[in-house]
Formats: sequence, structure tokens, C-alpha cells
Amino acid sequence: MSERDPIKVMAELLKSGATMLPETCPVEGCNLPLFKLRSGEIVCPVHGKVHVVRTEEEVREVYSKTTLALLLDKVESTAIRVIDSLVGEPDADASEIIRWLEVLERVERLKSMTKGRPQG
Ligand SMILES: [Zn+2]
Repeated sequence: MSERDPIKVMAELLKSGATMLPETCPVEGCNLPLFKLRSGEIVCPVHGKVHVVRTEEEVREVYSKTTLALLLDKVESTAIRVIDSLVGEPDADASEIIRWLEVLERVERLKSMTKGRPQG
């Protein structure tokens, strides 16, 4: 129930034949070294089994998808805010509203692509 001392867990892991890896836990704020069990599973002393990004390509893919998702979120909230303020103005430029709506539409499309669904 109580928190386990990660150092103790690491010692136990090493004793059981696990090897310490150069990679660290992908969980934010954790940064503990990962261990490879004899069974081949990769575990964090605190978080247990974790998904490790192995190849550089995978790293790039995960990174770019995360970055893109964050960026899209920002663009989306900006677009919504702008549309909201434009709609509130009595002499707002309709073409500008439409432009921002197009931005939103594109954001939605890109978002569905980053969720890993194949396009088409
Ligand atoms: Zn961890």
C-alpha cells in the first residue's frame, strides 16, 4: 500500500537478473532508469511495465505526433476564441469568420490523422 522505495525495487530487479537500460522511464517526472527483465519485458521500478520507444524513427514519430497534437490544440482554441469575438462584433468581416472556420475544419482533419487512423 505504502510507496515502495524505488532504490529497493531496483536492487530487487537486479538481483532477479534484470539489466539496467540506458533509457529512462517515459512517464513524466519519473526519469528512473528502466530495467529489462529476463522475460524481455521493460519495466520502471515505480510504474511497472512501460512502452519503450526503441528506434529513432519511432522516437520521431511519437515526438512529432505529440508536438502536432499540442499545436493543433492551441490553434483550435485560438480559432474558437477569434470566431467567438468576431461573431460578437456587429460589423465583423464574414470572410474572416469563414477563414477561421476553415482553420478549425483543417485542425479537426489533422487531429483525426494524428490519432493514427489511416486516411481515406
Ligand atoms: Zn517510471
